[in-house]
Amino acid sequence: MRLLVLALMFLAAQAARAETANLTAALASITSSELRSHVAALADDTFEGREAGSRGGRAAGVYLVKQLQKYGLPGAVHGSYYQPFGTYTNILAVLEGSDPELKTQFILVGAHYDHVGYGTRSNSYGPIGYIHNGADDNASGLAGLLEVAQAFAQFGTRPKRSILFCFWDGEEKGLYGSKHWVDHPTVPLAQIAIAFNADMIGRLRGKRLHVLGTRTAPGLRKLVALSNDDPNLSIFFNWELKENSDHHSFVQRRVPIVMFHTGLHDDYHRPGDDVEKVNIDGMQQTARLLFRFLDRAADEPQLGKFRSQARQEGPWMSQMLDRPLAPLPGRLGLSWDDKQAADGKILVTRVVAGSPAETAGLKPGDQILQFAGQAIASVADFRTAVLCAKNPVIAVVKRPDSEEPLEPTLQLNGNPVRLGLSWRTDEAEPDTLIVNRLIPGSPADRAGIKLNDRIHSAGDVTALSTESFIDMLNSTAGPLELLVETFGQPRTVTVDLPVVE
Ligand SMILES: [Zn+2]
Repeated sequence: MRLLVLALMFLAAQAARAETANLTAALASITSSELRSHVAALADDTFEGREAGSRGGRAAGVYLVKQLQKYGLPGAVHGSYYQPFGTYTNILAVLEGSDPELKTQFILVGAHYDHVGYGTRSNSYGPIGYIHNGADDNASGLAGLLEVAQAFAQFGTRPKRSILFCFWDGEEKGLYGSKHWVDHPTVPLAQIAIAFNADMIGRLRGKRLHVLGTRTAPGLRKLVALSNDDPNLSIFFNWELKENSDHHSFVQRRVPIVMFHTGLHDDYHRPGDDVEKVNIDGMQQTARLLFRFLDRAADEPQLGKFRSQARQEGPWMSQMLDRPLAPLPGRLGLSWDDKQAADGKILVTRVVAGSPAETAGLKPGDQILQFAGQAIASVADFRTAVLCAKNPVIAVVKRPDSEEPLEPTLQLNGNPVRLGLSWRTDEAEPDTLIVNRLIPGSPADRAGIKLNDRIHSAGDVTALSTESFIDMLNSTAGPLELLVETFGQPRTVTVDLPVVE
């Protein structure tokens, strides 16, 4: 029996190692040079700006199909890649999922392949009559999707849900391709768990990617954030839900969406949107994040349902919710001399009227030697002692005009602080606590936690609620590991929880 258990553990460990190796290989296959060559090809003058229905637009479609064939990804329209409508054509390929049940659900991954051709007064900021190559809009999205499709086609760990790759036509004319697809879906709309949209991912600036739509289903934000392992890529979760790209067709049909976007620029819908101005390394970072996100989403046991409220929750609401709570009143009510404090001396400079410090008779000039039984040799010592102390507190104080140290008894404000943060919860972000107040000098502050950080797990609890977190804090003394996320960058921090008898 024990041998069997050991053998199973050995096999599980081997499988985990193989999966890690597969993931590493898949990510390594997403290369700058291939991304550059796709953008350069699709944004070349030979495609004449890829206007939907034009010769150049059709040629771009042929280029995409050639790549998909090379990767060995089959077409998704009864074996064909083409979903024609009028003079336009969507291009669809599929990777079948590995799980017998989950493979009937799809993660749809889309990007539009058309652009504005030579430009018209209604779709170009000018000058018109010149080829608008649309390197960022949206050869960048196409290149990213191709590299991700290739990585999945070669991936040794096939995802559980199926992935449907969609190259939309006619976006610039009014989201024609995605609208046609939701009206004539090649798999039932109810089987689309998430519709992803890549539109303009070629101009990453300031290492910050815009990710939109994560409030359209509970848990999407966490899926994206926990997929990010790139220390040089942070995420701005943008709450805007505009009607300006193909994700809109899916929002209208109540399908959860996620969109990656690297922002507008002066070359937007102008002839100057060329390959030289694309940030290829930024595209590689973005495409690798996309691969990890899709892989995670495709394997997630349960994905959230569409949240209609997301359509009303604009950036104004995000700003309102991100506002921190008012700071708590200090427990003690005194200030000290910073210069002396640097040498480990807490020398009182000011006592707040009506505070516990004043009530206990503390005065400017006093030096705090001990507090609640702790010797004070630094600001950190002092802050921790004050935050953790249980009433009543005895301090040992040296006063300049008195020979013997004084031993005043204090009654501090509030309860002892153990972690030093407050949080809110958000129904669009289940199992996560959002920091909305941080006490300076507290264990949370000293561990580097920031306002608006997300706490995704504590110890071995990965689905945090207010109740489970309070239970955990009450039953822990000493180090506690938290999985914390700042701007889409997850990291593990260890907070040191003081013992409170
Ligand atoms: Zn676009």
